[in-house]
Amino acid sequence: MKNTVVIGGGPAGMMAAGQAALRGQQVTLIEKKERVGRKLFITGKGRCNVTNASDPEEHISNAMSNPYFLYSSIYGFTPEDTMAFFEGMGVPLKTERGKRVFPVSDKSGDIVKAMEQFVKESGASILYDTAVTDITAEKGRVKAVVCGKRNIPCDSVILATGGLSYPATGSTGDGYRLARKLGHSITKCYPSLVPLKVKEKWVESLMGLSLKNIKMSVLLKGKEIYSDMGEMMFAHFGITGPLVLTASRYIDDKTDERPVIRIDMKPALNEKELDARLLRDIKKYANKDFKNALNDLLPQKLIPIVIMLTGIDESKKANSITKEERARLLKVIKNIELTVTDTAGYNEAVITRGGINVDEIDPSTMESRLVKGLYFAGEIIDVDSLTGGFNLQIAFSTGYIAGTNC
Ligand SMILES: Cc1cc2nc3c(=O)[nH]c(=O)nc-3n(C[C@H](O)[C@H](O)[C@H](O)COP(=O)(O)OP(=O)(O)OC[C@H]3O[C@@H](n4cnc5c(N)ncnc54)[C@H](O)[C@@H]3O)c2cc1C
Repeated sequence: MKNTVVIGGGPAGMMAAGQAALRGQQVTLIEKKERVGRKLFITGKGRCNVTNASDPEEHISNAMSNPYFLYSSIYGFTPEDTMAFFEGMGVPLKTERGKRVFPVSDKSGDIVKAMEQFVKESGASILYDTAVTDITAEKGRVKAVVCGKRNIPCDSVILATGGLSYPATGSTGDGYRLARKLGHSITKCYPSLVPLKVKEKWVESLMGLSLKNIKMSVLLKGKEIYSDMGEMMFAHFGITGPLVLTASRYIDDKTDERPVIRIDMKPALNEKELDARLLRDIKKYANKDFKNALNDLLPQKLIPIVIMLTGIDESKKANSITKEERARLLKVIKNIELTVTDTAGYNEAVITRGGINVDEIDPSTMESRLVKGLYFAGEIIDVDSLTGGFNLQIAFSTGYIAGTNC
């Protein structure tokens, strides 16, 4: 009987282990932590956005690195297959805004439980609290997995140790070291889908403020590299929220030129319409202080900042605002700029961008092109996607392909 060891009890490793065991292999899943699926448990703010109910083509077009590499796996185990898998495991699902799929219970624990149950019912065994420290190979083929002093001989190894983000969940980049030792190259890794730190100290005063229906653009060397509408939030160190996480994917490492985030507070109004609106409000509050004239237009917390950025005296009466000052105000409302100094790092990153070089993996089997019997699955590979359930689908699809081909 073929012996397979799966390293890493995340969604990719659990899917791979269960599939390999269903084929009659003797499978051991080794998990460093005392429980499997620690990261899976915190996904989707504890609700687990398990996949996206869009077609495979849309999943591939949402992939930010190496989309073509994902063709065989996403078509081999589709989003529909993921949904059928969980429904079949007794976890009813629902589809929300943006085709995001969640368990009806809104409990990620149900997804973790179903996956662990799948592994066990398929006949694989799980070693908890056990870290793999080495993989040995002989004559270009895997030979054994080493956990400290323990040697586990095997015919195949599926490496599914995840990336570097949220290291407390167990993803600390061990797999990169194990693969590198066997000759694999790792592309440059970055924290991605991550909050951003900014230079402007005044953001501290806005902590907790959430802005909805704004337009955010990322500018690099003055050129727009990303723009979208949506929601963001201010934090003590900078900015976060859905728009910011997506924007972060477009920001590389520390470039010489710092990226600038531009916020348009009123994207639904063009300059002429916004000017008319400003005039209306100024007229309505003619005898009030200028700062009070903005109450209908902007969130309270933001008003002192906007006024500070315009340089207009806040105690000036609204009816004494000049045309030039109104133009300055309009410009600030449509162009609040923040200079990105860094990301919030791996501790806060939803995913790691970068990983095992896809040129060294056969996309139709997930087998290493360098070492026979070595397979990869999940976030450890240099593939990543945007938010919306796409990253878990990558884990399930690549895990399925590795588990059915090892
Ligand atoms: C806060 C947060 C929210 C997220 N929400 C979503 C979401 O809603 N939808 C979505 O699609 N994606 C989401 N993601 C991304 C998603 O969780 C990951 O893409 C996915 O978990 C990757 O799966 P994986 O199995 O490849 O790796 P992981 O889930 O990281 O699992 C790797 C496992 O390997 C184990 N391991 C590591 N080293 C060793 C070793 N040496 N020996 C043994 N075991 C080892 C780790 O302990 C870990 O259990 C979220 C991520 C975060 C951080």
